[in-house]
Amino acid sequence: MRNREHEIYDVVGIGFGPSNLSLAIALEEYAASGPGNEMSAVFFERQSSFGWHRSMLLPSATMQISFLKDLVTFRNPTSSFSFIAYLHASGRLPQFVNNQDFFPTRQEFHQYLEWAQAQVADRVVYGSEVTSIRQPFSAAPQPPDRLLLEVADAAGRAGRVIEARNVVISTGLVPSMPAGTERDERVWHSSEFLEKYRRMNPRELRRVAVAGAGQSAAEITRFLYDELPHAQVFAAVPSYGYSVADDTPFANRIFDPEAVDDYYFGTEQTRGAFWRYHRNTNYSVVDGDVIRELYRRSYDDEVRGVSRLEFLNLTMVTGVKRVGAETRVSLQSGPDAEVRELNVDVLVCATGYDPMEPTGLLGDLDRLCLRDEAGRYRVERDYRIATSPESRCGIYLQGGTEHTHGLTSSLLSNIAVRSGEIVDSIVARRTA
Ligand SMILES: Cc1cc2nc3c(=O)[nH]c(=O)nc-3n(C[C@H](O)[C@H](O)[C@H](O)COP(=O)(O)OP(=O)(O)OC[C@H]3O[C@@H](n4cnc5c(N)ncnc54)[C@H](O)[C@@H]3O)c2cc1C
Repeated sequence: MRNREHEIYDVVGIGFGPSNLSLAIALEEYAASGPGNEMSAVFFERQSSFGWHRSMLLPSATMQISFLKDLVTFRNPTSSFSFIAYLHASGRLPQFVNNQDFFPTRQEFHQYLEWAQAQVADRVVYGSEVTSIRQPFSAAPQPPDRLLLEVADAAGRAGRVIEARNVVISTGLVPSMPAGTERDERVWHSSEFLEKYRRMNPRELRRVAVAGAGQSAAEITRFLYDELPHAQVFAAVPSYGYSVADDTPFANRIFDPEAVDDYYFGTEQTRGAFWRYHRNTNYSVVDGDVIRELYRRSYDDEVRGVSRLEFLNLTMVTGVKRVGAETRVSLQSGPDAEVRELNVDVLVCATGYDPMEPTGLLGDLDRLCLRDEAGRYRVERDYRIATSPESRCGIYLQGGTEHTHGLTSSLLSNIAVRSGEIVDSIVARRTA
């Protein structure tokens, strides 16, 4: 990072996943588009280096979106930060095209993200967690034109205070565990899967269970089955079986940039219809190929007369106990059904995520943020939280806007366009 610790930044980004990486690039490209367009910006990321769901970079796991929905292309198809530019720089463009596949592996997409972040790394402070945002006291009649952010280092030491005219919060989804289940060294959430798995001796994992019916659950089940040929793998699936993700062309239109307007300016009924009809494009669903691969493994086992992969359908995890070295999982098929117990060496809860929640970060500032009748943040079309007149700084959200901007809020599909819209808004408010 440039040595600007005591300057006021035009933009401070909290979290540096793909969303704020895309924003950093949009700022860079805006600065290059004309004299006087430079804006001072810094991004804080609590991980020690760039990482996009590293613990789920399972071999052969593929992206759920086209490579063309990268950090920039939908905003600027001629950008030098595109996935195609990355392939060109890596000398793999012809090979990629010959492969005739829109969906690269997550490992390759991660390499692309790392390549892109390296080009804007001078604006990023890794190993730094923003712990609070507040508005400074001002005796002037005008509300202050800056916010104060407290930043802790990797060891949790607070101390650094940064001033910002605009903050862009992009801290990501929050892992969700089944009720009554705490994480420990034998009970993992999918978001920490590979990190925890690599600490184990695979030979000691003889009985493992995966809870959940979504993409991560299916991918982890497949991974454990393949990696642990001596182990029994249980998949506790709350549905009757995995349901397929709808990625057909008409349904995919809900991820188009225009769909954000249809959602944002639609009625409550329209918004409800988006979720009712199209939830199955992303939530608790699995790629058809992964479903078929799992079924194939299970069927082949049956032919060979072994049952190493057991699907416990209509089954929820309702609790976990430690009994000696064993992890005893309580399973239930319905609220009145009998509780069964299963002893395993490890339980992986691929039980999803809650939306991004900035309330904790906002602290006292939260009282200046306006909320709707349901208690959710009122968010303007430009992703800025609507605030009372006592605040005049921009607090933008990248994520946590499912209720206002729709299904793409926590996904990659729209990050290029959304980042451009946020830059446009900051510029417009700066010059207003
Ligand atoms: C396994 C997996 C696969 C996925 N695959 C796809 C896909 O193929 N297509 C798709 O569209 N979506 C996918 N998603 C959805 C996912 O939300 C997006 O891919 C993407 O991660 C969103 O980027 P983001 O930058 O908003 O959030 P994140 O990637 O979650 O980044 C947030 C960052 O903020 C940091 N942070 C949090 N709090 C602080 C703080 N207080 N201070 C500093 N830093 C902080 C975190 O360390 C993190 O790096 C996937 C999700 C998962 C879990």
